[in-house]
Amino acid sequence: MKVLVINCGSSSLKYQLIDSESENALAVGICERIGQDISYLKHTPNGGEKIVIEAAMKNHEDAIKMVLDALTNSKYGVIKSLDEISAVGHRVVHGGEKFATSTIITDEVIQAIEDCNDLAPLHNPANLIGIRACAKLMKGVPMVAVFDTAFHQTMPPKAYLYGLPNEYYNNYKIRKYGFHGTSHSYVSQMAAKFIGRDINDSKIIVCHLGNGASISAVLNGKSIDTSMGFTPLAGLVMGTRSGDIDPSIIDFIAKKENKSLDEIMNVLNKESGMQGMSELSSDFRDLNDAIDIGNEKARIAFDVFVYRVAKYIGSYIVAMNGVDAIVFTAGVGENDWRVREEVCEYLGFLGIKIDLEKNMLRGQAVMLTQPECKVKVCIVPTNEELAIARETVSLL
Ligand code: ADP
Repeated sequence: MKVLVINCGSSSLKYQLIDSESENALAVGICERIGQDISYLKHTPNGGEKIVIEAAMKNHEDAIKMVLDALTNSKYGVIKSLDEISAVGHRVVHGGEKFATSTIITDEVIQAIEDCNDLAPLHNPANLIGIRACAKLMKGVPMVAVFDTAFHQTMPPKAYLYGLPNEYYNNYKIRKYGFHGTSHSYVSQMAAKFIGRDINDSKIIVCHLGNGASISAVLNGKSIDTSMGFTPLAGLVMGTRSGDIDPSIIDFIAKKENKSLDEIMNVLNKESGMQGMSELSSDFRDLNDAIDIGNEKARIAFDVFVYRVAKYIGSYIVAMNGVDAIVFTAGVGENDWRVREEVCEYLGFLGIKIDLEKNMLRGQAVMLTQPECKVKVCIVPTNEELAIARETVSLL
């Protein structure tokens, strides 16, 4: 069957139409600058040229209309009629404690997602707009919500509770949730297959290193800890996010620079991380180029990033009392040989030595360690859209 996968952001909408039998994407695309004067639809049919359509999309409903028109267009479309779409899978960022698995979308589910808006005020409302627009335009087509947080709901209280007065958890559900769950789940399963282990008897550390980055400890197929927290700001140093910092810094900057909390949160989310430290870029391609020509700030930012990744890996080896495989995935994890090489330099005590030639390969699953290495290190490309399509099919 054909599944439309939708990932709605506040001003963008990414989509893929996936054939669940072949698991191929028949078309992929994105609507950008929704709600602004000029918006764009970029649509690429499988095997065809990317087309860019400029149009006014005043809201997400307009965007979804454009997507459905593109999918059925006589020149660059990939289906004859919308009846060919059997289901829609929606990425939803926050499912709180209510959703430990994906779920078929009903009115009650929409309400429950809305109840989680507080926890993800930037993301969940946008996801809901996408769900409501699809419900309106594709009446009767079943829809499934796949949550970024769901996979991590298996964490035990000792992993998800903060050292705060209990009332904050009781009253507001302040705890670690973790994100990128769809990717951590998909990649850990693929990695278990790749190393030839039963997922139900495995200890896998997934390093999802993209612009946003998180690491998880997956014991016997279940997440038992992860580096992002109550929000995606926690954990690793990221493209523009600070990751873990001493919370007192917020108060200190507020007083020194007479900044409001909102202003400081904006700095921590958008102006920190690799961008803030390097004063150059949040993109690892730019940072690598800069390191190659001796840029000191880029080098130090890289060191901080790699050191933090290595320390999280170390802590998750302790959490699982061992590890079978350490897996790199997402934009940086799949493409940046230097990150992988330097992270693995910290792991020599485990007997890990990676093949530097294989470490230059990209775009496929690659085993980086020698067969005699007990702990495997590998690259496994993530595919969140395919994971959402699989979840959607399995629920229907
Ligand atoms: P997100 O989904 O969080 O936006 P991605 O997983 O798509 O992030 O990763 C995007 C990041 O991947 C880019 O910002 C860049 O830093 C990194 N990246 C992409 N290609 C390369 C490459 N060839 N070498 C190094 N880093 C890369």
